[in-house]
Amino acid sequence: MITDLICKSKVMTEFSKDLETDRMSHAYIVSGEDTYTRNILMNLIAKMLFCKQKGCNKCKVCLQIDEFTHPDFKVYNTDGKISVKDIETLIEDTYVKSWEGSKKLYFIDNADSLNPLKQNKLLKIFEEPPADVMIFMFTSDEASLLQTILSRAKKLYLPRFSTNSILLELINEGVSKDVAESCAVFSDGRFDKAFKFSKEEDYTNIYEESFDMLLTCSSTKQMINMVDSRLFERENIELTFEFFEIIFRDVLEYVSKGDNFITLNRIDDIKKLATGFEYSPGAVAKCIFLIADAKQLINVNVTALALAEKLIYNILEEKHKCRLS
Ligand SMILES: [Zn+2]
Repeated sequence: MITDLICKSKVMTEFSKDLETDRMSHAYIVSGEDTYTRNILMNLIAKMLFCKQKGCNKCKVCLQIDEFTHPDFKVYNTDGKISVKDIETLIEDTYVKSWEGSKKLYFIDNADSLNPLKQNKLLKIFEEPPADVMIFMFTSDEASLLQTILSRAKKLYLPRFSTNSILLELINEGVSKDVAESCAVFSDGRFDKAFKFSKEEDYTNIYEESFDMLLTCSSTKQMINMVDSRLFERENIELTFEFFEIIFRDVLEYVSKGDNFITLNRIDDIKKLATGFEYSPGAVAKCIFLIADAKQLINVNVTALALAEKLIYNILEEKHKCRLS
């Protein structure tokens, strides 16, 4: 279960250690993009602090935490739209005595959405925290936080999960194996992405078609037919390039004799691609750069077709060079 995976992750072991040794910080900044994992982490931390059994999932306290009705556990900014007024209310609230007489726990989600003005308002409780108050800020971009805030909080990082753990979890949740595989591959170690993709059927098809295209692409003569593919239509091109990148990263892993693959059960195909590039790590790495460059240009004013044409041409050229050398 996801909860077990998070419990075993570094973020939880570090926090548990702080709790056991009574070295808890009044403020934590948790970096990481996975919103699904964030929500579970909030729930686990609240239970660790308020439930007598540190999270029995049966008592009244645990139930209140699940339902967001516990009076000393509050979550702000889930929509990323917190106002200055909301922040003022939050600060006032921190000075009110806790209901249960122990801690008061505040989570501020999407902290990267807070402009400097809002962060400066919050600074007050970071500088002089009211007794028993504990604040967690979740952010996907630490750099967007003021140094004055960062320096007053302890940093924790959300875990990234292996493709395999995500795959097992998706299957466990009833997602079919084929769909679960491509979603796990593209999830980049994040459960929020994996679940989102598992609900969108076409992801799997684009993954398969991306693989097919790279496997069959061998000469510039085929280029016209290839770039005509739906993979390079405006709405699909970004995802196609993402899959290309993942596939090439695995080819690089293969030619460098590593075994940490992102794709699942595609080793024969990866090997075929590696053969096409004469097992040259340099050429494969160059292709990864070419794809990354192409990805950057998607939102610039270039047509998807021109971008696809240039990328495929460059990849084929790299392949051609390998054969000559
Ligand atoms: Zn409980």
